[in-house]
Amino acid sequence: MDNCIFCKIVRGEIPSAQVLDADKVLALLDISPVNKGHVLVVPKEHFETMLDVPDNLLKDMILAAKKVGKGMRKGLKADGFNLSMNNFAAAGQVVFHAHLHVIPRFENDGLKHWPQKHYDEGEMDSYREKIATFL
Ligand code: AMP
Ligand code: ZN
Repeated sequence: MDNCIFCKIVRGEIPSAQVLDADKVLALLDISPVNKGHVLVVPKEHFETMLDVPDNLLKDMILAAKKVGKGMRKGLKADGFNLSMNNFAAAGQVVFHAHLHVIPRFENDGLKHWPQKHYDEGEMDSYREKIATFL
């Protein structure tokens, strides 16, 4: 993918602050961190969303995220970390090369969880069924 920013990073055409260079994945600092030390886990091969990433590569990504989370707890003294993945534009995906976000969290870091909605009476079962049918 000639114009993909993460493919360019993988090819070494643009600089990045890498914390891990494994066989199939890179982990690097996000240039605009939610908290300082925010890391992206990026597969070296280009896939657009999680739905395109082969299962064995997803495993490598999640295991790299686990390592990074452990490293954040020790190296940054993070109290916790969030793991997230934006899939498709509606979910906020901006770079269409699948990646995991690992965000270090600190007590009282001022970040808020997403606002939550509520189900009307009986609605939960219809949502459950709509998803479960396709699994
Ligand atoms: P997403 O919304 O999940 O597609 O997030 C893309 C992320 O990539 C954003 O958090 C950006 O700050 C980050 N990003 C974009 N360009 C770079 C870059 N050159 N190096 C590191 N992170 C980047
Ligand atoms: Zn790419």
